[in-house]
Amino acid sequence: MTGSAQLASGERVLLFDRKDRRYVITLAAGAEFHSHTGIVAHDAIIAAGEGGRVRTTGNAEYTIMRPTLSDFVVKMPRGAQVIYPKDLGAILMLADVSPGARVFESGVGSGALSMTLLRAGADVVGYEIREDFRNRAIGNIESFLGADAFDRYRVELRDAYDGIDESGFDRMVLDLPEPWQVAPHAVDAMRPGGILVAYTPSVAQVMQLRAALQRLPFTMIATLEVLHRGWYVEGEAVRPDHRMVAHTAFLTHARLLAGPGPERPVAAGDKSGH
Ligand code: SAH
Repeated sequence: MTGSAQLASGERVLLFDRKDRRYVITLAAGAEFHSHTGIVAHDAIIAAGEGGRVRTTGNAEYTIMRPTLSDFVVKMPRGAQVIYPKDLGAILMLADVSPGARVFESGVGSGALSMTLLRAGADVVGYEIREDFRNRAIGNIESFLGADAFDRYRVELRDAYDGIDESGFDRMVLDLPEPWQVAPHAVDAMRPGGILVAYTPSVAQVMQLRAALQRLPFTMIATLEVLHRGWYVEGEAVRPDHRMVAHTAFLTHARLLAGPGPERPVAAGDKSGH
């Protein structure tokens, strides 16, 4: 993935111009990249290397970089809406994902979250109800991480609301419409101390999920949103960008207690220090 500045046919690259228009392409010897500013030969991109620059036939300049995971996620083919990088980063930290952690994920959608978990070193089992989405996710993961990732990744075509057939998961990350239908299964599927994180766009979902978590042996239950505001920095004009993505989803997280005993503490509310 990282490597020398030398690029090869078959590698993926990010091209961006002065206006920060971005394209992700896969290099092929002899092929051409076409944009509204003209044409560049892939061979010229390969010759320029990572960090290099090329000019189109219309004299526009493109800078060449290997795409980061974040670049790839926003450009990759998708069916379902993907989780955006600002939330993917937060999920890794809230779920405390580490190499070798066993993570349950549902639904899998386009695979943006799957590839983020895999890149952090987790072993991932996904439940997804739509075969076309599963296939797209697998294609995206192979394309970005290579087939080796499948040693640590499996997607089953099934409905997560119906139950989870495995146990001993360290973490569960949910991105589906009714996570409160999965939370009860988490109690058996996850080990005590395990962390559940759910990504839900609406407040009504947060309320239903929180009510469900409160009835189950979960503690340290908290909800937050991640606001990512870019800044414009040009000479004396230094200010927040005019536009931002104001809302994606809320992140609710909770930790599983050992056994649904009567003395378990009441969920503590938002005392997590965020
Ligand atoms: N997190 C994904 C996007 C998930 S979109 C990403 O980053 O790319 C939500 C997905 O949940 C869809 O693919 C949908 O088919 C799936 N889904 C919805 N209900 C489900 C259920 N009950 N069980 C399993 N998957 C479900």
